[in-house]
Amino acid sequence: MIFEHLAHYGHEQVSFMYDPDTGYRGIIAIHSTILGPALGGTRLWNYESEDEALTDVLRLSRGMTAKAAVAGLHLGGGKSVILADDKITDREALFHSHGRHVQSLGGRYTTAEDVGTNPSDMAIVREETEYVVGLEGRSGDPSPVTAFGVYRAMKACAKFKYGDDSLAGKTVSVKGLGHVGYHLCDYLHKDGAALVVADIDQTKVDRVMEEFGATAVDHEAIYGVDADIFAPCALGAGVNDDTIDEFKVDIIAGSANNQLAHDRNGDALDERGIIYAPDYVANGGGLINVNAELAGWTLEEAHAKAGEIYHTMLGLLEIARDEGIPSYKAARRLAQRRIDTARRRAAVAS
Ligand code: NAD
Repeated sequence: MIFEHLAHYGHEQVSFMYDPDTGYRGIIAIHSTILGPALGGTRLWNYESEDEALTDVLRLSRGMTAKAAVAGLHLGGGKSVILADDKITDREALFHSHGRHVQSLGGRYTTAEDVGTNPSDMAIVREETEYVVGLEGRSGDPSPVTAFGVYRAMKACAKFKYGDDSLAGKTVSVKGLGHVGYHLCDYLHKDGAALVVADIDQTKVDRVMEEFGATAVDHEAIYGVDADIFAPCALGAGVNDDTIDEFKVDIIAGSANNQLAHDRNGDALDERGIIYAPDYVANGGGLINVNAELAGWTLEEAHAKAGEIYHTMLGLLEIARDEGIPSYKAARRLAQRRIDTARRRAAVAS
């Protein structure tokens, strides 16, 4: 059953660890190290089943391989999940266990924070292993850089669709005003775009209304807003069988991971002439930012590299158009091409 899963997703290695002293149950998945050592965050989540946790870590780590590949980074794809439950009382001990788990892989996998974990947890992990990035006082919160990359991706989509990448006078609907969504609104406002926003947290809505003159709608209504561009910056699967007919936009470009619930939803966007910025291309700025710690870049250099997402996105949309394929397929091809090239080089060298 487990090897069937691995074969399905094409993984190199999956490590399970249980620590009876702390109740730690963690899975680290290394999808690929062809491009370099695997990097990806640690997710702490109360999964309904072990199977759900395994599927999540396999899916997420595979996505990291593609994200690093299209960003041109010398990194592989990995991710870890910690299965949280009510029995865990000592968070510090839990992350010590996780640090030992990461260390046991000897550098094939480097971790960072993700959903449910924070820089303080990573500081505990650091006491057990050097293979952790995104620590306080180092590359810091990646969200502003992620937002900048999404903004640049959106401008590339505008250039492709309208022949001009200015967003002045455009209306952008934004779902999710958290770490990334807020900073994205800031960039869009400065570029002269009008904002229509939604979040389930009213304080976040109030803030962007006040600071950026945004108009608010209910979070259920955001998909049907008549706008030029939609930016999904909450959770994934926002483009699905139920929402697909609601969109009245030219472009979808946001930070959320796994925006397409199914490939068929990406096909449907293409058929409707809606330009879709593949999520792991648009939101690669966060990974670029933490990579600064490994590659020795300054934060200014990381910011500039996140800005290059513009050219990657524009090139990808042109390939999609020329080859008559949806953008999500063009992104997969680009990632696969980079991985295949690295594999060939490794074969020649050995
Ligand atoms: P966050 O938790 O700070 O913000 C998410 C926001 O979405 C919150 O304000 C939340 O209230 C809101 N939200 C949740 N459900 C909603 C709903 N149904 N309707 C409207 N709003 C809803 O997260 P973030 O760091 O800003 O990340 C946003 C997305 O971008 C996530 O999918 C994340 O995986 C992805 N992402 C983030 C980064 C990063 O650097 N932070 C990098 C890559 C991808």
